[in-house]
Amino acid sequence: MERASLPPQIEPAELLWRDGIPESVRFGDLYFNRENGLEEARYVFLQHNQLPERFGRVQAGGHFVIAEAGFGTGLNFLATWQAWNEHKPDQASTLHFVSVERFPLTRKDLIHALTLWPELTPFAKELIENYPPLVRGVHRLILDEGRVRLTLYFGDILEAWEALEFRADAWFLDGFAPACNPQMWLDKTITQVRAHSKPGTTLATFTSVGRIKRALADAGFRVEKTRGFGRKRDMLAGLLPDEVGFDPAAGAKTVAVIGAGIAGCLLARNLADRGVEVTLVDSASQPGAAASGNRQGATYVKLGVEFNDQTELGLTSLLFSQRFYTPYRDRYWHPTGLLQLAWSPQEQDRQQRFLRRNAYPAEILYPVAREEASRLTGIQTQTGGIWFPGSGWLEPAKLCKALSEHALITPAFSSNVERLIPLNGKWRLTGSGGPEIIADRVVICAGHLSPELIPLKGEYRLKSIRGQVTHLTDKALQTPKAVICGARYLNPMDDGVAVTGATFDLRDTNPETTRESHEENMKALQDMLPGALDPESSLAELSGQVEGKVAFRCTTHDYQPVAGRLYGADGKELTDIYLLTGLGSKGLSYAPLLAEYVADQLTGQPACLPSRLVRRVESRRIHRSGMALS
Ligand code: SAM
Repeated sequence: MERASLPPQIEPAELLWRDGIPESVRFGDLYFNRENGLEEARYVFLQHNQLPERFGRVQAGGHFVIAEAGFGTGLNFLATWQAWNEHKPDQASTLHFVSVERFPLTRKDLIHALTLWPELTPFAKELIENYPPLVRGVHRLILDEGRVRLTLYFGDILEAWEALEFRADAWFLDGFAPACNPQMWLDKTITQVRAHSKPGTTLATFTSVGRIKRALADAGFRVEKTRGFGRKRDMLAGLLPDEVGFDPAAGAKTVAVIGAGIAGCLLARNLADRGVEVTLVDSASQPGAAASGNRQGATYVKLGVEFNDQTELGLTSLLFSQRFYTPYRDRYWHPTGLLQLAWSPQEQDRQQRFLRRNAYPAEILYPVAREEASRLTGIQTQTGGIWFPGSGWLEPAKLCKALSEHALITPAFSSNVERLIPLNGKWRLTGSGGPEIIADRVVICAGHLSPELIPLKGEYRLKSIRGQVTHLTDKALQTPKAVICGARYLNPMDDGVAVTGATFDLRDTNPETTRESHEENMKALQDMLPGALDPESSLAELSGQVEGKVAFRCTTHDYQPVAGRLYGADGKELTDIYLLTGLGSKGLSYAPLLAEYVADQLTGQPACLPSRLVRRVESRRIHRSGMALS
């Protein structure tokens, strides 16, 4: 296969700048009107969808969904964001903008294109800072502190509309002219537009081609030709009549989140930011006490040699987590870069196959030879590896605490939930300690204790794996400047301590640290990075009561996370109960995106995962048949 077609990269747009206006070389058409692109966007798309007025009518704490065909330079999006800022009903409401782009602009071209609009500068700046690397798939961007959520699908339009779950209030049909961009205007695509619309949905498009007008009318839209912008004679505006029944997924008003580890805290905060009242329950007296209580944790995923759904999930999660943690930089988030060391011949071989079969942009990862690996990490390594410049390490317990502090989050710590009981369309949590908790919906994020709480006791394929970490001091260790992962991970020194680990002990329930586990960690580290540990001092350190921590990871039979509605043995979903667990040792990378996804479900907002990844994470796959109600 030619390198240009290797996954997961996506071909960028090729632009020609004529009089400062971008034109597509591939399609031979302009991205926007030569006279005034911003005014055109406002006239065609905002005005003909009656957006400013409709924004003002959104219910407090509600949301409005716009879907666009062709993200291009993001001009329409930025003009919409600006209008939302002026007309949105309140601070807790969310604008969702779902857009697709088959040939995304490079960051450099995006910056160039957006300098044309000085009045959009603050919005453009935030978009550019969050603009994802050019890889296929879905990128959810959280902007304006969550008031604006952009779901950007890098791929073909038909594939996007088939894969994404959302219902639009308004459409911007903005491909290039149908004559030069037929793929954008297929009848099948228009059928998808209808399928993703609510009754009362409006649409606008700059084109007035008769075939498009007829296809939209055949799909059920009432379409009118109206005056176009500037020198264009006509354009189309449409409405899907209100007569079809539609039962919008009612968003939850109150949610109980069980488990205040990284998954539970991220979810609670995400929901609270969207205006939902949350009770955050944990048997411990504070958040981040169990598996998320390590002093340090790396944001790391092992990307597969094959670019399959599992790899896409890992990559999408990693990129989302890097964007998500950016505001916490230098507090709990330390993006030092991360080296995936080719620490054994097998791993070296795997990395070579991975690099041959894939083409990742260098802003995500690139191979480094031994000298470069040593320079980047500050440790003499024996081999090279793969360098992830945007990864690093977190202080998870501190992050959990910060996330859990919000006016809409009621903590219920030291509460030991034993059972979940349905009560008049709600859930009641019973157990010992803490107040009685009743909520519309409940989410189990209780790590390895999750199986005990699931009302359908039985064969969910979840298991618990003991992991012990070791705290090394600078007496025993040459300090790395970046995270190193291999047979073990090793973090940079923080406050005189660098965390290494963890052991992987199946069927071991010992909650205490053991000397054997410390020895195992040190031995593995010694083999992996002979230059880092001083064998004599580290042995001396061992004999002098080295410190560490034991935690239990929750994982599934296929070592992939679980997120979303809980399904029973018959494949039907249980009412108002959700799971977010099975994150194994990759919680810091997976949890931000999966919490976003579960929050999307709970609030009835567009999903940030395409259907192929929804299937990868759903609980249906982890239960065996034949379960009985407890
Ligand atoms: N809305 C954009 C803006 O605000 O700058 C302008 C969109 S431009 C007129 C049309 C866009 O559709 C181009 O960026 C083009 O790459 C994209 N496009 C063309 N064919 C596509 C396809 N089959 N699937 C997805 N996007 C496509």
